[in-house]
Amino acid sequence: PTKDTLLEVNNIEVIYNHVILVLKGVSLTVKEGGITALLGGNGAGKTTTLKAISNLLHSERGEVTKGSILYRGEKVQELDPAALVKKGVIQVMEGRHCFEHLTVEENLLTGAYTRRDGKGAIDADLEMVYNYFPRLKERRKSQAGYTSGGEQQMCAIGRALMSRPETILLDEPSMGLAPQLVEQIFEIVKAVNEGEGVSFLLAEQNTNVALRYAHTGYILESGRVVMEGTAEALRENPDVKEFYLGMS
Ligand code: ATP
Repeated sequence: PTKDTLLEVNNIEVIYNHVILVLKGVSLTVKEGGITALLGGNGAGKTTTLKAISNLLHSERGEVTKGSILYRGEKVQELDPAALVKKGVIQVMEGRHCFEHLTVEENLLTGAYTRRDGKGAIDADLEMVYNYFPRLKERRKSQAGYTSGGEQQMCAIGRALMSRPETILLDEPSMGLAPQLVEQIFEIVKAVNEGEGVSFLLAEQNTNVALRYAHTGYILESGRVVMEGTAEALRENPDVKEFYLGMS
């Protein structure tokens, strides 16, 4: 059976400060149950794309000036981020953004703030998160600001899971982490995808690791999608090999 389309970005253009054209017509699709990678170098427009989807551009003086963004067929680009969370879409921003003065567990619980299904269900999900991230369970009473970079990234993903999302927009999960930790984070993303059926759109500069875990990918260059396909096809593509995987 063909998978449902969750997210559809159609030919969007984004302009910062009324003059700086950064996305020049980006289109992409996220299918139910998949891991979709948004790849490209520094400044290609990955973060801007994710922020456009979550309607987080206003504070950066950016706006979507063309195109449309649909979630399950419904226009979402004017929704505020909280309303989008209610629809099942949550963004984990680059640089993690845990509440430093709260404990790890308190951080996780803030992810459940929009839920109305009671303490029992929330406690069960806390256990679900600890199952995927045993390290967070060990650190649950620690102040988040004193945990490592990897633990903070885990905490940010765990907090997103506490909202029971259908889709997680994950910005640069590998940033600043040692290779072994990057691998660990991607293993957990894969386990969550398979175990909970959560779909991911992840922005990543690390093409190599992203294409090993994603099902499909898009490559952005200067605000345009220059290549797209299954992860396997992209891994085998000579240009991708030469320019993004460092093989030639
Ligand atoms: P990175 O991995 O560095 O985050 P990226 O692919 O996510 O790269 P973006 O952060 O989306 O890229 O940036 C795309 C372009 O938009 C860059 O040229 C950047 O300088 C520019 N840009 C980003 N934010 C703003 C802003 N608030 N005002 C003006 N230009 C911006």
